[in-house]
Amino acid sequence: AQEASSQMTLAIYQPGEIDQLAQRLSLESELRRAVEQEAFTLAYQPQLNLEQGRVVGVESLLRWQHPEKGWISPTVFIPLLEELGLIHHLGEWVMQHACWQLSQWQQQGVCSADQPLRMGINLSPMQFAQPDLAEQLVRAVSQHQIQPRQIKLEITESVAMQDPQASIALLHQLRELGFQIAIDDFGIGFSSLEYLLRFPLDSLKIDRAFVKDITRGRRDRAIIKSLTSLCQGLNIATIAEGVENQRQRDYVDALGVTEIQGYLLSQPLSADDFVAWWSAFQA
Ligand code: C2E
Ligand code: MG
Ligand code: MG
Ligand code: MG
Repeated sequence: AQEASSQMTLAIYQPGEIDQLAQRLSLESELRRAVEQEAFTLAYQPQLNLEQGRVVGVESLLRWQHPEKGWISPTVFIPLLEELGLIHHLGEWVMQHACWQLSQWQQQGVCSADQPLRMGINLSPMQFAQPDLAEQLVRAVSQHQIQPRQIKLEITESVAMQDPQASIALLHQLRELGFQIAIDDFGIGFSSLEYLLRFPLDSLKIDRAFVKDITRGRRDRAIIKSLTSLCQGLNIATIAEGVENQRQRDYVDALGVTEIQGYLLSQPLSADDFVAWWSAFQA
């Protein structure tokens, strides 16, 4: 029977496709094993408030080191985790680990009431649709004695707009619990801005596509300018993603952006490297 089924497989797939399929299947089984063994880490990328000149937060970014292939991008393995039904489990690990790390930094005096640090946590489309999302989050913060307002949840514009009414209700619930809300990768669905700004939001993260050509394109500057003035009026902070050089920083600063994040400041760092980076930055 096994022979017959492998023959059928050979009949259906072209040679190149078999390679792809085999590669994917091995990635899948390795990913399953990695989830079981919790072979993941979080990297942290700083966010700088331009007016205060202070690092006010970090975004946690999931990292998977494959035994042979090295670091694999979350843009590759997060969709796979969703397909395999593993995102619920790993998503909770991320929440737990991010809260644990923040409590460690508090205990070590790395951050404090005088020098607060916010932790950003990304939520995938399927996580955002989970009925027990709020429960998972509340469990993570209370287990590590973190205030919900120290946590900023990042969801992408497209996820929020999939079912706007349901999103608004969920975001209100999360916000009433005390969590901060950010819209990630903003700008791709620009037409929905007016609608989106009815959502209960704390921050809007301007996609790096708009920052990339800011020194050349008038259009991108005009978009950022209108975004920042709209958000100011609504008490929503704006964060420019992907700021890679000083000229981009100067432009977004002049256009009224609240915070910047990107390689100019730092790449995403391990917890220890972030602590070292931050103290050097302050000195
Ligand atoms: P994102 O949330 O928009 O994260 C920002 C991405 O931009 C990160 O990629 C970061 O490394 C990269 N980046 C930061 N500064 C710069 C820069 O100056 N230039 C350029 N070119 N890139 C920059 P990363 O870490 O590969 O993550 C990709 C995406 O994977 C994230 O996009 C997020 O959507 C998702 N992701 C990452 N970690 C998690 C997680 O823990 N849970 C979930 N659900 N999704 C995650
Ligand atoms: Mg993000
Ligand atoms: Mg983003
Ligand atoms: Mg992005």
